[in-house]
Amino acid sequence: MDASMQKPGDLTTVMYHYVREIKNSRYPGIKGLEFAGFKRQLDYLGSQYEFISAEQLIAYITGESADFPEKACLLTFDDGYRDHFDFVFPELMKRKISGCFFPPARPVEENSLLDVNAIHFILASATDTNRLFNDLNDELRARDFSESFIEQHISRLAQPGRYDPAEIIYIKRMLQRELPFELRTEITRQLFEKYVEKSEAEFSKELYMTAAEIEELVRSGMYVGSHTYHHFWLNAVAADTQEQEIDRSLQFLTNIGAPTRNWIMCYPYGAYNADTLEILQRKYCVIGFTTKVGASSLDRQAALEMNRFDTNDFPQ
Ligand SMILES: [Zn+2]
Repeated sequence: MDASMQKPGDLTTVMYHYVREIKNSRYPGIKGLEFAGFKRQLDYLGSQYEFISAEQLIAYITGESADFPEKACLLTFDDGYRDHFDFVFPELMKRKISGCFFPPARPVEENSLLDVNAIHFILASATDTNRLFNDLNDELRARDFSESFIEQHISRLAQPGRYDPAEIIYIKRMLQRELPFELRTEITRQLFEKYVEKSEAEFSKELYMTAAEIEELVRSGMYVGSHTYHHFWLNAVAADTQEQEIDRSLQFLTNIGAPTRNWIMCYPYGAYNADTLEILQRKYCVIGFTTKVGASSLDRQAALEMNRFDTNDFPQ
């Protein structure tokens, strides 16, 4: 992808997840960005673009300001990882850049672990992907799922993805989305215990920022927006559940001192539907970030459906 092909006036928003010293960490298999690569990427982006803050983008989108840099870049950090406090935040402060942080509320408030993160660390801890693939299928067999059920899912889901081989895509899809919610949570817990060997609460405290740390981001001029409460695929749940997810995250934002008028939503997995957009409009949300890859259009009518680039789309 050539990010330089975007029309002038479009915004380059970059999405980050894990940013840490991966090689020296306990989980060198985790898929993320090395801190040194992050710093090199900031050098690169700074040489090509002007970093803007969420407040500048919000002011432009709401029409409060007509000014917007020709080549603007906004940095976004999803999922509320401790990495963002330990590595990203001090680096952004040093460079006087304001970043946007989107922590899901439940892991912070209840020391729970998102299934998606449990899956990442199962994969990072599993030295043998084949064994994990077989263990997942054995968990299904133990719950009386038929061989043909398993085979059909393998043939449909085990396709190599943008960053992952076929077996890993199968494991991720089955545990993130395909199996019924209760079942996939239960199997994920089983595999987490087996491969990561830690309690959920203990691991949650290591993985995510605390409320006090997130408050410090806000006080220091960083932007903190909504990434919902549970981190569900919003397009897979009913409108009333979506509204609860959004209300609970707004309560969380209020508690940590972040704005809840003219605020920014970041859809978990980039997933939303028409109900989501209707709810967000009612609740004074002005910008929504998806995971659709590309430059973010500054069209005010489409501001709830902004594209983002991934960190892997730029030199690291
Ligand atoms: Zn997320």
